[in-house]
Amino acid sequence: MKAACLLLFVLFLQISTGQTTNIRITNPEAERVLKGDFDPADYAPATLVEHPEEVVDALVQTISPDTLRAYLEVMSSFGSRNTGSDTLSDNFGIGAARRWAYETFQAMSAANDNRLLVSYVQFDRLICGAAQHRNVLAILPGQGPKARELVLVEGHLDSRCADRCDTDCDAQGVEDNVSGSALVLELARTMAPLTFNRSIAFLLTTGEEQGLLGADAFAEYCVRENAKLQAVFNNDIIGGTICGSTASPPGCPGLNHIDSINVRIYSAGSTSSSKQLARFTKLQYQEMAAPQLSPSNEINIMTPEDRIGRGGDHIPFRERGFPAIRFTAANEHGDGDPSQAGYEDRQHTVEDVLGLDTDGDQLIDSFFIDFNYLARNTLINGNAIAMAAAGPSAPYDLMVEELGNELVVSFEDSLSYGNYRLFIRRSDGDQDQDSIIVLNRTTDTLRLPGVEVYFFSACAVDSNGIESLFTEEVQKIVFTSTAEIQMRQRGFELLQNRPNPFDEATTFGVYIHEPLPYREAFIQVTDMQGRELVRLPIELRPGINEVLYNYQHHRYQPGTYSYSLWVDGRRLATKRMIYAY
Ligand SMILES: [Zn+2]
Repeated sequence: MKAACLLLFVLFLQISTGQTTNIRITNPEAERVLKGDFDPADYAPATLVEHPEEVVDALVQTISPDTLRAYLEVMSSFGSRNTGSDTLSDNFGIGAARRWAYETFQAMSAANDNRLLVSYVQFDRLICGAAQHRNVLAILPGQGPKARELVLVEGHLDSRCADRCDTDCDAQGVEDNVSGSALVLELARTMAPLTFNRSIAFLLTTGEEQGLLGADAFAEYCVRENAKLQAVFNNDIIGGTICGSTASPPGCPGLNHIDSINVRIYSAGSTSSSKQLARFTKLQYQEMAAPQLSPSNEINIMTPEDRIGRGGDHIPFRERGFPAIRFTAANEHGDGDPSQAGYEDRQHTVEDVLGLDTDGDQLIDSFFIDFNYLARNTLINGNAIAMAAAGPSAPYDLMVEELGNELVVSFEDSLSYGNYRLFIRRSDGDQDQDSIIVLNRTTDTLRLPGVEVYFFSACAVDSNGIESLFTEEVQKIVFTSTAEIQMRQRGFELLQNRPNPFDEATTFGVYIHEPLPYREAFIQVTDMQGRELVRLPIELRPGINEVLYNYQHHRYQPGTYSYSLWVDGRRLATKRMIYAY
C-alpha cells in the first residue's frame, strides 16, 4: 500500500510521460482543408482583395493596439493556463482559456461568412497529471490551385510558474505568452475578410512549457496527413520591451533597458529554408509595410535557432523538414529559471502580468507590454504570411557552376513566371542579402571578386509583383587566380568569419582543398593581448567546414579580436574580427 502510494506520487509529479497518441482534428471541415480534400469555391469571399498593396494597406489599417490589449486583458484573467490546470471551470484554467479562444475565432468566422474553420487539435499524453489536451486551430481556406498549400502562424497559449507542473499558481504569463497568442488572434481577425491562394492556419498550442508537446502533436499530424506546409511563423514573448537581469544569451543590454523597436527572428542553419524564411520575412517587411510606418520595427536575423539553452514551438516543425522561424522581443524579462538564487525577473513567475497599478486606483497604469510594439510585430507577421500565402511557387534546383573566370547560376521554374530575383550574400556581410539582381530568365552569368564565399538563392515574381519564398542558398567559394595558387599550395584557407562585425554569434569557416590527415584541429579565439577566450574544435573535411561561436552581450569589451586555426599543435593561420554592440 505504501509502495503503491509512493509510485502514484512519483507518477503524478512527472512532467510528461509516454508518447503522444490519438492526434485528431475535431472539426471535420477543417480536417478536409488540411488534407486538401475540399472545394475552395465553398469558401469564396464576397469581395476579392488581390493586389498586394491593398492587402498590406488592409493589414496596416486594421491591426489594432486596442484590440490586442483587449485580448491580453481577457487571456491574463484565467488565473492559470498551465497545461495541467483546470478544464471545467468557466473562469479559471487552461480549459476556460481555450474555450474563450475557440469562441473568439468562431465570432470572427461568423463576421466573415463562416469562412474561418475553427477546431481543436486534440491529443492524448500524460502532462502534469492531465491525460488529454487541446490546441486551438482556425483555418482560412485558400482559393485556386494552391489552396492545398498551407502557411501556419502559431503562439503557445499555456503558461507556467517556477514549477512547470504547478497547476494552481496565478500563472498569467502575459509576455510568455499571451503576447504571441494575442498576435495570432489579431491576425485571424484582420485576415479573415481577405483571400489568399494558399490556406492559412492560426494555431494556439498547449504543452509548450513541458517540452513543445502541442506543437509537436500538430507537426506530427501534418507529416501523417502529408499537409503541404510551406512556412511556419512562431511567436513567443513578443510584446515586452523591458530587459531583465538574467535574459538568456544573447540577452539584452541590462536591467530596465527599454527597446520598443528591435525584434529578433531565430531560425536554424545559415543557408537553410528556415533562415531563408527569416530573410524573406525581413525583405517583405522592408519593401511593403515598413515604408508606411513611423516608427517601423527593426528585424534582427539571429544566427542560432533560439536563445542559448532555450527552445520554442518552431522546432518540432523544423525537425520534420518544414521551414520554421521564431519571433521574440529583443528585450526579455528573465531567462525563465526562477529556481536560481536571487532570481528577480518576471519570466515563469506570478509576476509576468500585464502591468502595475502604481496609484492604487485598481487600474493598471504602468504596462510591461507595449501595445504599439506588439501591433508592429503583428504586422511583420501578417505582411510575410500574406505574401507567402499569395505569391508564386518558389524556383528549385538552383545550381552554381564555374565557367572559366565566371560563375553560371541557374534554377528551374515549372510554371514559367518569367520574372525572378537572384540574391547574392557575401561571407563577410550580415545576415541579409548583399545584392539583388532582377532577371527575366532562369540563368545568369556573373564575375565576382575573390577570395570570398558567396551565397546564392532566387525567388520568382508574379504579375502582381509578389515574390515567392526563397530557394535554399548554394554556397560557392570564389578565388582570384593568385589566391587560388596559394590556397592549392597550402591545401586550406581560413575564411573570414561571418557576420563580421558581430554582436551575438559568428561562424568560423575553413576551406580544405584535399583530404588532410590530422589528429586534432580547433579554432582559438584570443583578445589583442593574446589571451585565449575559447577553443572550438573543428572537423577538417574537403570543402567548407564551419563552427558556430555563440557570444553573449557585454561578456567582453567591444573591439578587435583574432582567431586562429590550430592543427596538431601548430598555428596555421590567423585572422581578425570585430565585436561590436
Ligand atoms: Zn514561451
